[in-house]
Amino acid sequence: MDVKQKYWNPVLETLPQEKIRQLQLKKFKQIFRWTYDHSKFHRQLYEQAGIKPDDIRSFEDIRQVPKVEKAMMRDIQRKDPFPYGDALCVPLEDVAVFRQTSGTTGQPVYQPDTWQDWEWWAECWSYILWAQGYRPQDRVFIPFGYNIFVAFWAGHYAAEKIGCEVVPGGVLDTKARILKIEELQATAMMGTPTYILGMAETAKSKMGIDPSKLTIERITCAGECGASIPSTKKRMEQAWGAKVYDHAGATEIGAWSFECTEQPGGLHVNEALFLVEVEDVETGEIIEEPARRGKMIITAFDRQAQPCVRFDSKDVIEWADEPCACGRTTRLIEGGVVGRADDITKVKGVLLAPSAIEEVVRSLDGLGDEYEVVVEKVGDTDHIKLRVEVLPESEDQCQLIEAELVDQLRLKTNLRYDIEICGCETLPRYEVKAKRFKDLRKQE
Ligand SMILES: [Zn+2]
Repeated sequence: MDVKQKYWNPVLETLPQEKIRQLQLKKFKQIFRWTYDHSKFHRQLYEQAGIKPDDIRSFEDIRQVPKVEKAMMRDIQRKDPFPYGDALCVPLEDVAVFRQTSGTTGQPVYQPDTWQDWEWWAECWSYILWAQGYRPQDRVFIPFGYNIFVAFWAGHYAAEKIGCEVVPGGVLDTKARILKIEELQATAMMGTPTYILGMAETAKSKMGIDPSKLTIERITCAGECGASIPSTKKRMEQAWGAKVYDHAGATEIGAWSFECTEQPGGLHVNEALFLVEVEDVETGEIIEEPARRGKMIITAFDRQAQPCVRFDSKDVIEWADEPCACGRTTRLIEGGVVGRADDITKVKGVLLAPSAIEEVVRSLDGLGDEYEVVVEKVGDTDHIKLRVEVLPESEDQCQLIEAELVDQLRLKTNLRYDIEICGCETLPRYEVKAKRFKDLRKQE
């Protein structure tokens, strides 16, 4: 691989859109046929809908293919062939890797991959890392607890595949990881926004180390929306003196998107490997135009053991208006994944995306990184309580900060909040993915 090469795959990343669409149609037909022929679960679903492989001739036909929801996958699992159940398309002995979803929305879903699937994962991540400036001279530190969650495993293998030097930061604690980054002069790392900010806080407050003076030049974030939220990205970039890039992916789907070094304020969809459709949540119509939000329905063209065909991801996204300045011809998702369809909830009749609250909290200078949102019903009325932490040097400005918060939140979300300003380090800290948004109305 020529290190001066701009794209990981110069052909696929610069295909004209109409050629990409032709390729997508061809590849959808292939994965549909594979799934129909090999998965009992999918075949039953498609037979009920009266759709056979030869029926698929256009994107309009694709829209008639039934969607698969996470709950359906949950139901077929823990059965024969154990533990994956009827969507398994290969003999059990071909399964090379077990992963499972994190289970934040219910019982975890198991994900089998063959060796070929696993190589495909690393290939998907190679597009991401190359687009974010990773090159063979990079020393990549991965501060991730390697376990049953897919998280940064494929990032690790892709960094090796590209030719970087990889330092697995496995079971080390946060302080040991920071010391290792310092000792080895690592140039890049990967983590959730919550953990990247938490590491910086530990370095500064507990070790007297300024992370921006370390050698990290680029950080790849995943697992949460934060790196696409401008104020959160800015906090991470300032803390580490590094460029921060977003990536969105999922265990059941694969690594389908990435931000490039142009930082266009959104994510490229890797359209040569995935078909992304945006569905209007109310009408079910597929949205092709920019600036209209819907939930993502996604197909992975090349994953074989347990395929992902028109999977209802519940990620809320919208198409961007303009192509990216980097020259890639694949479409952009504006502002990244803005939330989960389940989290985007109506409060007092107004649609509220938690990411909008994060954007406001982290844009104010006197506040720390942590916050907590609780939505509850008091009598018949919805109440939103927002807890934030004030930084020690700003404690005398609490009233000003509160007024600014209320103003900004009303502007960005059209809602009123009860604000509680807490002392530094009083709110819960999270190691990997944070749970900062609590809707108590859903538990009643
Ligand atoms: Zn780009």
